[in-house]
Amino acid sequence: STAIVWFRRDLRLADNPAFDAAVRAHDRVIAAYVHAPEEECAWAPGAASRWWLHHSLKALEASLAKHGGHLHVVAGPSLASLRDLIAASGATTVYFNRLYEPRIVRRDKAVRRALEQDGVAVASFNAALWCEPWDVETKQGGPYKVFTPFWRHLRTRIDGVEPLPAPSRLSFAEVGGGGSDAIDDLSLLPTRDWARGFSIWHPGEAGAWEMLSLFADDALAHYAESRDLPARHGTSRLSPHLHWGEISPLQVAAYLREQAARQRNAADIEPYLRQLGWREFGHHLLYHFPKTPTESFNPAFDGFQWAERDAHALRRWKQGRTGIPIVDAGMRELWATGWMHNRVRMLVASLLTKNLRQHWVLGEKWFWDTLVDADLANNAMGWQWVAGSGADAAPYFRIFNPVTQSEKFDPEGAYIRRWVPELADAPGRLVHAPWEDEAFLARSGYPRPMVDLKTSREAALGAYQALREKR
Ligand code: FAD
Repeated sequence: STAIVWFRRDLRLADNPAFDAAVRAHDRVIAAYVHAPEEECAWAPGAASRWWLHHSLKALEASLAKHGGHLHVVAGPSLASLRDLIAASGATTVYFNRLYEPRIVRRDKAVRRALEQDGVAVASFNAALWCEPWDVETKQGGPYKVFTPFWRHLRTRIDGVEPLPAPSRLSFAEVGGGGSDAIDDLSLLPTRDWARGFSIWHPGEAGAWEMLSLFADDALAHYAESRDLPARHGTSRLSPHLHWGEISPLQVAAYLREQAARQRNAADIEPYLRQLGWREFGHHLLYHFPKTPTESFNPAFDGFQWAERDAHALRRWKQGRTGIPIVDAGMRELWATGWMHNRVRMLVASLLTKNLRQHWVLGEKWFWDTLVDADLANNAMGWQWVAGSGADAAPYFRIFNPVTQSEKFDPEGAYIRRWVPELADAPGRLVHAPWEDEAFLARSGYPRPMVDLKTSREAALGAYQALREKR
């Protein structure tokens, strides 16, 4: 019999439960990718994500070709495309791995129901998480809203679970069309060549493993100390690979456990596993609280007095011309590479939502378009965490001071100098606060800060106080 494996954000062959089950149970499989961004409405992949997707599909196509198969790529809608493929191939079963975004959950349920009514069997699996959102609940029942107890529970469940190897003997069914040309026809690449700096990335399963082994060799042992230093390559940069399912958290944990055992320092992986725990927490929250990408998780924040939308300020923030060096370095890194260091994400988000008091959704949308790891669950959680409106968020009154943060986490200013060439030669402390020397500032061509950090902080605290008094 023939089965369709409906690839989505699980663009890998190893540890892919849907692919594995299809290959075991059927004589022939069809690997299919249906491109239907309109089914994700406001959260269709942004420009940087589309760039990634293009290359990741090419990589998957190449791995399938090595096994004598190919990727059948079609432009959606999902249900109609799958039905066409079933009619053309006589497939009896559709296999896929589950996703957790509210729109996609709804779409997948509808597709499953319709196919089952057609008499086609549908089987779905978990490929993206250690534990699916409905599989973890508090002692009282119901979802977690606080990270630490969530993680304490999750941590007890992840040892000893082994990933699946890539299926070895593959047999593919013939259907017309598809292949590499069809990937080009999706027009995922930007028309303007702004993605030149993205060449640091190698989308696809092999690229994910390269990144993981590099991290295990070079950075894992110092992760706890280095993960906050943006000038270092101290984190794994696996986020886009994880988002597109080119590697799974099970695979990452198993590999790191093995490496750590070999280097006899098993404890080293704990801080890293905990960060992957945040990713699980984000998915848990999004599934149970599907409005988190647009509405305050904490309803008390609904009455918060955001400043009016300021298009000019927003533009300067996006372009990395705020006049606050660490913030501009981050925004420029984002634009150039599609990625930004986590510590700096917090600082740029804090400047936007607190000092400029622009609504966090505005920043969330910019990140959505520009990050190669744009992920609805993690992005919404990150923005709400910084804005103070999220589950288990930073207390609002803890407003980051970007100058002291910069001095602490980028003491030599190496990160700033890399991304803000106007400040490459700034002497000493001036790299963090160039406005402290008028003559230097004028010479550097770097802008004056667009906002006074002290008074804007006080104004933000005032707005927060007003919110509390309203309650
Ligand atoms: P590492 O430190 O190597 O961590 C390993 C993995 O753990 C990451 O790849 C990621 O999957 C997960 N992880 C780490 N930190 C977090 C976190 N705080 N929340 C959730 N997962 C985490 N992450 C995204 O994947 N997509 C987003 O769209 C996104 N938007 C964010 C927006 C804001 C405002 C903030 C503050 C954070 C956001 N993050 C997002 C979380 C975090 O910044 C990135 O996951 C991390 O920087 C990715 O780099 P890395 O792979 O080197 O991380």
